[in-house]
Amino acid sequence: MLLIKNGRVIDPASKTDAALDVLLDGGEISRVGANISADRAEIFDAKGLIVAPGFIDLHCHLREPGQELSETIETGTKAAARGGFTAVCCMPNTQPVNDNASVTRGIVERAAAVGSVRVWPIGAASMGSKGEALAEIAAMRRAGIVAVSDDGKPIASARLMRQVMDYCDSLDLPVIDLCGDASLFAGGAMREGPHSMRLGLKGIPAQSESICAGRDVEMAALTGARLHIAHMSTRGSLEYVRWAKKRGLRVTCEVTPHHFTLTDEDVRYDSRYKMNPPLASREDRDALIEGLADGGVDAIATDHAPHHPASKDVEFDRAPFGITGFETALALGLAGLVDAGKLSLTRLVELFTTGPARVLGLERKIAAGEPADLTIFSTDRDWTFRAAESPSKSRNTPFDGRGFRGGPAATIVAGRIVFRG
Ligand SMILES: [Zn+2]
Repeated sequence: MLLIKNGRVIDPASKTDAALDVLLDGGEISRVGANISADRAEIFDAKGLIVAPGFIDLHCHLREPGQELSETIETGTKAAARGGFTAVCCMPNTQPVNDNASVTRGIVERAAAVGSVRVWPIGAASMGSKGEALAEIAAMRRAGIVAVSDDGKPIASARLMRQVMDYCDSLDLPVIDLCGDASLFAGGAMREGPHSMRLGLKGIPAQSESICAGRDVEMAALTGARLHIAHMSTRGSLEYVRWAKKRGLRVTCEVTPHHFTLTDEDVRYDSRYKMNPPLASREDRDALIEGLADGGVDAIATDHAPHHPASKDVEFDRAPFGITGFETALALGLAGLVDAGKLSLTRLVELFTTGPARVLGLERKIAAGEPADLTIFSTDRDWTFRAAESPSKSRNTPFDGRGFRGGPAATIVAGRIVFRG
């Protein structure tokens, strides 16, 4: 038993924000209340800390199987635990691609053996994510996938999207799409605009994303299936999502910490600023923050995308897309959203907990009988993020050396403390 005392419990599902104790027993929450005492329990003193439901990351890359130089399930989930995440959804663009039940089972078994946090795999939509034949979606669902996506690239055509959606609708699985029209995206390295001109880098117009988001929303209207737009970065895409929500379509979206923190003006000739979608304009960034505040956006997701230095430390246009993200996500949210006065602490917690849970058709709350997954964090401890100290195998982040106020203090999965800061 573990008794968390003296914390400030924020539970968006029940709209709780109060000084309460939480007693965990045998992997479940057994009691929530004031001044709980339990003789046999280990005590965790959460004085001055926030006690939240366990954070869920809808979007990450653990690189196993196949790219273990960049990350493994073991190192990636250690970094996730340090970031306060109790469950992470890993994208299928591994080697081999997670497009069949045996790869899914391999990930699930490896995570059970060496993972610090829960790992919920996402299966490929098409075989090899090649955009041709459907992957073995039903068999993967039985093996444990929680959604499908061809992440790394968009689902290739509207016709394939229709097939995937029809199929996933019958299995009640969300379809997650990376939006980016390939013909506009081709060869681009950062967002098209005055800053790409200044740096002499080939630009990617905002419409590369929004054209694809519009197509996907139309396909959700046609099929009635659940659509989730990954790492949305533009005002135009958000307007399509708002349009869909107004019409009662089952469309959701996520935004990454780097997209609500940085803009294309921050990009330097340094591949740690290269990600897909690219950092957007200030106007787009501000629109995303509005969406995070008012419910247009459903979740914050990291898109933790580790790359081994040998592949990332090359010329900007030759470097792969992506940055690491688990350990800085909460602190960036506190800095850029809460401390900046854009949204409340409860809303921030919702974007990491009940928001992503809902996308997956799950609930997340602090109540008796629920899984004992909790994230405990501070809002006022000063610290500096040092990529070299990360348990992740990769260091590709523009936030290395950045000072923060507030961040993860402890991560609890199934009643066990898997990280304590
Ligand atoms: Zn991704």
